[in-house]
Amino acid sequence: MPAMRALLLWTLFLALWAPGQTVHSAQDATLPLLSVWERGAVRIEVGPRMGVLVDPGGSLTLEQVRTAGSSWQLINRQSPNFGFTKDAYWFRFQLQNLDSQRLSRLIELPIPFLDHVWLYHYAGDSLQTRYTLGDEQPFAQRPVRHRNFVMPVDLSPGMNTVYLRLASSGTIEGPLRIWDPALFHAAANDESLVQGGVIGILLIMVVYNLFVYFSTRDINYLYYIGFVASYMLFHLTLTGYTFAYVWPNALRWNSFAISTFIGASAFFACLFMSQFLKLRLFSKPAFYLVRALTLVSAAIFCLSFVLPYSWTIRAGTSIAIPIATTALTLGYWRWWRGAKFARFYCLAWTAIFIGLAVLTASKLGWIPINLWTESASEIGIILLVVLLSFTLADRINTDRSLRLNAQAVALEHEREARTSQQALIEAKERVNQELEARVQSRTTDLNTTLQQLKAANDRLLLLSTTDGLTQISNRAYFDTAVENELRRAERQQTAITLILFDIDHFKQINDRYGHLTGDACLRALADLMRPRIHRAGDVLARYGGEEFVIVLTGVDLTQSMALAEEFRVAIESLRVVSEGHTVAFTASFGVVSTVPHATLQIEDLLAAADRALYEAKHNGRNCVRAALIGT
Ligand code: GH3
Ligand code: MG
Ligand code: MG
Repeated sequence: MPAMRALLLWTLFLALWAPGQTVHSAQDATLPLLSVWERGAVRIEVGPRMGVLVDPGGSLTLEQVRTAGSSWQLINRQSPNFGFTKDAYWFRFQLQNLDSQRLSRLIELPIPFLDHVWLYHYAGDSLQTRYTLGDEQPFAQRPVRHRNFVMPVDLSPGMNTVYLRLASSGTIEGPLRIWDPALFHAAANDESLVQGGVIGILLIMVVYNLFVYFSTRDINYLYYIGFVASYMLFHLTLTGYTFAYVWPNALRWNSFAISTFIGASAFFACLFMSQFLKLRLFSKPAFYLVRALTLVSAAIFCLSFVLPYSWTIRAGTSIAIPIATTALTLGYWRWWRGAKFARFYCLAWTAIFIGLAVLTASKLGWIPINLWTESASEIGIILLVVLLSFTLADRINTDRSLRLNAQAVALEHEREARTSQQALIEAKERVNQELEARVQSRTTDLNTTLQQLKAANDRLLLLSTTDGLTQISNRAYFDTAVENELRRAERQQTAITLILFDIDHFKQINDRYGHLTGDACLRALADLMRPRIHRAGDVLARYGGEEFVIVLTGVDLTQSMALAEEFRVAIESLRVVSEGHTVAFTASFGVVSTVPHATLQIEDLLAAADRALYEAKHNGRNCVRAALIGT
């Protein structure tokens, strides 16, 4: 498969740095014969089975070459490669047609970028065919419409000699093949299918990643697309496809496009490397190294349009290997230093390196040429492009999972913060509740205490204002109450009445029935009087001994006298049973009633009532007497 001739940077590089190692210094070379016949091999690799003649300055004529004799040398390598040179190279090989009739064959030279490809076909001494081709002529002038130089020859029976002159501003290589025409076209179809597949994959990757770029806006994708697109164009130009199908007449452009695409590929590879591996943060020296490589690549890209191709192609191939090596080294360094996202990146560059190594080894004859080694460059490119795309997807995933992790951590923190805040609020509430409960309980205690205190107070007050024997108010209570009633009566200008009464001859009751019976009589009297003095403001009190006092308000003297008379009658009717005795007794009443004026004192009232009582005693007891104030 001619894909093998899709030469890559690596071989260009080798061509640049290892030229001139491909010839024997054998003086008188005898060429091996290449035999062809109708049913013979369909494809013959000429390889080293031809002579080479260096034509310094490219001035030799065909005749001089044909008669050069001992100047011809043998080639000792599978893939004849003579590097960058200003010299023209002549090749010569012999084809022996074993058949008795003419045989059509195609000679293929799969180096599409050669400037000058001249072919002369001799049968014996007569020139049969001549071609003057090269990539400086429009594609339409090719005898066979193919990306490579394909030249039909009509071999006469017997010996045929082919001379080939190559000259170019790029490298000079002459890996020739001789084909049966029918099978050449079949193989060309197969190859087109494979190359179409490769181009398809590359285009899909470009378009796919372009869409990814539009959705992610990650600049890495643009660099990647730039790299893949440039590399694809470089590959297609190197293999002659672009000249055959894209710009068949753009001769000037075609003569330097390879340099342009090398510059662009290198430029985007550097940008991608720097951005993807985050070199600015990772290592300053590495960052500046890659920055320098980027600038050189950009310069090659720009200069490819103005400087001669032979200069820019040398610069381009010189920079390619350092860039690829740097990309690989920095990738592994980054990976080794813990950047997991660099793993696919390393794999991608390793793949292309292995691809190039296989291709080189096959070209150097170290490993056999087969389908795989021939396709090493295509396999390498596809692996590179696909793995780099993986790399980007992988990093997006890594970045996203980092972002998701960060989000989860943030959420967790927020949740913790909320939980502690909640706990704080609950604790506050608990404290408040406890405080409230404590205050409540203290308040309850206090209220209870206050109530107890009030009850005790009330009891004390009652005790201090109640007469122990009769359970009616005592003298102390009377003194306070009467003062209040007097002042209220004065304010309201209503009457106030004082009734003072005393049991008659009580001493005799004591003497006759005993002190206990006396006490019972006092209690009975109180019980008799209590229900009769019930209006608010009215007071019944024990004034001392067997003497009682009543305060009434809003009752005039006449009414008071009548009331007193009622009381006297009630007492007279009272019978007290005690200690087996039934006791009856009477009482005398002194009444005073007045609408008080400002200077009226309790003492005045009491003195008047006392006078009236005295008068009642003197007038025979068991009667009611009144007294006037101030008399
Ligand atoms: P008069 O008609 O002039 O009032 O004669 P009287 O005996 O009632 O008056 P007097 O003041 O001379 O006597 C009062 C007596 O009342 C003297 C005292 O022994 C008696 N007494 C005073 N307080 C009590 C008491 O709480 N219980 C008993 N059983 N007797 C009392
Ligand atoms: Mg008395
Ligand atoms: Mg008395």
